[in-house]
Amino acid sequence: MLEIKDLHASVEEKEILKGLSLNVKAGEVHAIMGPNGSGKSTLASIVAGKEDYEVTKGEIRLNGEDIEELAAEERAHKGVFLSFQYPVEIPGVTVTNFMKTAINETRKAQGLEEMPAKDMLKKIREKSELLEIDRKFLSRSLNEGFSGGEKKRNEIFQMAMMEPKLAILDETDSGLDIDALRIVANGVNKLKSDDNAIVVITHYQRLLDYIVPDFVHVLYDGKIVKSGTKELALELEEKGYDWIKEEINA
Ligand code: ADP
Ligand code: MG
Ligand code: MG
Repeated sequence: MLEIKDLHASVEEKEILKGLSLNVKAGEVHAIMGPNGSGKSTLASIVAGKEDYEVTKGEIRLNGEDIEELAAEERAHKGVFLSFQYPVEIPGVTVTNFMKTAINETRKAQGLEEMPAKDMLKKIREKSELLEIDRKFLSRSLNEGFSGGEKKRNEIFQMAMMEPKLAILDETDSGLDIDALRIVANGVNKLKSDDNAIVVITHYQRLLDYIVPDFVHVLYDGKIVKSGTKELALELEEKGYDWIKEEINA
């Protein structure tokens, strides 16, 4: 699904990713953890195709295709979803209408016809129930006056609606109370299938009590320095990151 090889990337001449490699197969959930400033969000942005970053070396492949030259929108059409991709407030555009447009634009780019209104409504109903989103919320203006929790829930709703092949959630858990966290995790767990992959970037172990990853990676100073299973996340929770720094420097 996603194959990253020896990726180096810079922002304003400053190297942030320094030889990062990562392989994510369909059906897998990967968690990426690591101290602040290690490059987690940079990695997410680069995979999604945000333009502030310059890839100076390495490869990014999606289902075998080199996607480095593709714009963010084209990657989205190929099924890449990054949370916080649409953080804009759009007064007058409701959550529902935004979703309808996003879905139909993606379908158009894939050479498909618009989704029949009946199917769209059914899907909206299903997914909003799954995420315990009420009707009133669906007719609010996108992101306008949303609380932190509502923004996160809306992101997960967008993800559930888009049914991406590769979903990257960047700290979707920060600022969520325990109920919202459970709902978000539930949405992610329901999305999981044999033909998609999910990358969860998180600072805390907490989310991983609900979304059980197949692999956990530690990103430190622009590289993945350690990989393991869920146990690694527990170890990090207990011991912090210092022992990893010591291991690297030893
Ligand atoms: P993380 O998500 O792991 O906390 P980030 O990827 O946000 O880390 O940031 C990694 C480093 O890159 C930080 O030192 C940050 O200041 C820098 N950085 C990220 N994006 C930009 C940008 N657009 N302009 C300047 N510096 C950036
Ligand atoms: Mg950060
Ligand atoms: Mg970050």
